[in-house]
Amino acid sequence: MSVATESGTYTAPAIRQTGILIGDEWRPAVSGKTFSTINPATEEVICEVAEGDAEDVDLAVHAARSAFESGPWSKMDARDRGRLLLKLADLMEENLDELAALETLDNGKPISDARAADLPLAIDCLRYYAGWADKVHGDTIPVRGDYFCYTRREPVGVCGQIIPWNFPILMVAWKWGPALATGNTIVMKPAEQTPLTCLRLGELALEAGFPPGVINIVPGFGPTAGAALVNHRLVDKIAFTGSTETGQLIMREAAATMKRITLELGGKSPNIVFADADLEAAIAGAEFGLFFNQGQCCCAGSRLFVEDAIHEEFVERVVARARQRVLGNPFDGETTQGPQVDKTQFEKIMGYIESGQQEGAQCVVGGHRRGNRGFYVEPTVFTNVSDSMKIAQEEIFGPVMSILKFSDVEEVIKRGNETTFGLAAAVWTSDVKKAHRVAHSLRAGTVWVNCYDVFDAAAPFGGFKQSGLGRELGEAALANYTEHKTVTMNLG
Ligand code: NAP
Ligand code: MG
Repeated sequence: MSVATESGTYTAPAIRQTGILIGDEWRPAVSGKTFSTINPATEEVICEVAEGDAEDVDLAVHAARSAFESGPWSKMDARDRGRLLLKLADLMEENLDELAALETLDNGKPISDARAADLPLAIDCLRYYAGWADKVHGDTIPVRGDYFCYTRREPVGVCGQIIPWNFPILMVAWKWGPALATGNTIVMKPAEQTPLTCLRLGELALEAGFPPGVINIVPGFGPTAGAALVNHRLVDKIAFTGSTETGQLIMREAAATMKRITLELGGKSPNIVFADADLEAAIAGAEFGLFFNQGQCCCAGSRLFVEDAIHEEFVERVVARARQRVLGNPFDGETTQGPQVDKTQFEKIMGYIESGQQEGAQCVVGGHRRGNRGFYVEPTVFTNVSDSMKIAQEEIFGPVMSILKFSDVEEVIKRGNETTFGLAAAVWTSDVKKAHRVAHSLRAGTVWVNCYDVFDAAAPFGGFKQSGLGRELGEAALANYTEHKTVTMNLG
């Protein structure tokens, strides 16, 4: 398949895997069912993918269980697990062009973003965790009496990992890295909208030499395949990224088998710009913090608080930047904004735009669909937004910026915290004391100062309040994938 762009003709990547990965075998679903994955830029079907459900999940869980309990993985030296992760990272680097193109085809994100952000961050994440593999260890504990007491950090076991569609490859890396470094086995369910890169990574993982059953992948739907993983009695842990509603459901369901859970959920992150900020940098940061990835970021700076003294100038300049965004074919190197991932998300966003207008916010740019093919939404900016409006309270997950005005530090801290979410926040100021004061007062898992969306595999990420449970990335994520075992030996 060729895709014509203004900068030439681009050849779409071959689709190599559309099956279910169990052990080292690629299979159709037991039911024989398939589902279509769509190119969101054209609304055309890319291919059919095996639709796994409870039966396939059960087979995958048994493969993961036996790989965990016996076989080469269970006896492998930690350092060798690290080497396999490094090998997988190398293979991803060698296949970067193909993987980036596949991601763009399935998700709609600009190829320039896939190449410059998603792939390098994912590769870096696997390398970071490869380094941890032989550095996770217990302690010797000085207990009373003639005993030798020590702790071991053992893997949790079989991990069910359920990921969303906004950063498909990156979410695989965030989930696989710490789980594999610590010796767990995996059954992953990719999002129904974007299964293709995860399946290709499964193939690369086998090529890297991960033993059969260590990584199993069951594409399919949440209420069937996803729920089967959450309820399976041989799954020890669920790691989930997605909506708060599904996270709450998983937390309830997981109680029955007391699974360990980590949840990375939604956000409504305050991005606070003080009048003493470097305005050019703050405006660029506001644009990037909201519009990056078509606004489909859990940490999007979707409540943009601007101090009243600079409000007018800020709005004018941020609107000018929004107008300059290049919407179009995501395979075109000039494109900065692609389509939303699917029709459901597109309609949800259009609904929020309508609600903003009805509730009295002023739409100063955008507000419409772009074209009539592909799920494109114009970069949209609302001013006169008040805290109680739906667009200021709920996660839109689209290219819709809401600007709120404030006049002093205490007020903006209070309003910034008036949300059920607590994933991220940012503050822009040239006053160091104010920066730290605000950063410490905001109830959020990450606070960026004079920057936005700066991610590093070494820095923990996750939510306060209803934005989640546990932390991904950094040393913190290792805790989610290990159990402490205490061994006490009588020396008397
Ligand atoms: P979602 O339903 O939470 O989907 C995330 C993942 O969970 C997908 O793999 C999904 O499968 C699976 N899932 C759904 N229901 C499940 C269940 N009952 N048991 C187990 N797994 C289940 O999110 P969505 O419907 O794609 O998007 C809805 C909203 O969620 C978005 O508008 C956005 O606000 C938010 N969201 C947040 C993030 C984030 O990074 N925090 C990412 C995506 C979406 P399917 O693919 O079959 O749905
Ligand atoms: Mg797709």
